Amino acid sequence: MWWSDAEWAALADGRTCGMCADAHLNENQDSLLVASTATTHVRLVRNQAHPGYCVVILRDHETDLADLAPGDLAAFWGDVQRAGRAVATVIEPRKIDYLVMGHRMPHLHCRVFPQHAEDDPHRNVDISDGPEYPSPTELRERALLLRKAWLAASQ
Ligand SMILES: [Zn+2]
Repeated sequence: MWWSDAEWAALADGRTCGMCADAHLNENQDSLLVASTATTHVRLVRNQAHPGYCVVILRDHETDLADLAPGDLAAFWGDVQRAGRAVATVIEPRKIDYLVMGHRMPHLHCRVFPQHAEDDPHRNVDISDGPEYPSPTELRERALLLRKAWLAASQ
């Protein structure tokens, strides 16, 4: 069963949205900040079962791609592409999947989800793989490498 109308309204309410609350922080419970633009925050997810796994979060609280004006839509995807290029440079995965879901966290974000040589391409994507949590030091080093690659990556 899908959420009740009241549950969905509460989830989609920007005033109580968890991503609005902590997407901009250097570090939060789920991720570390890699870079910010006028449109998005790019974050390295703490669960690195898929090394390089990042999330690109829209700054504004919108629940769906359909809600974005054309300029914002282009800027969002530009940041997603740039994040993917940074991940490719630093991590060198075999492929990067780009996942826009949000049925549990209806604040527009795209998961930049690398697939590596040891991953089975026949298996369905599971963003909860692992978890594998690198040490805080390792995570910060990876975030710094991604930030350097982000700064070097052009759109
Ligand atoms: Zn939000």
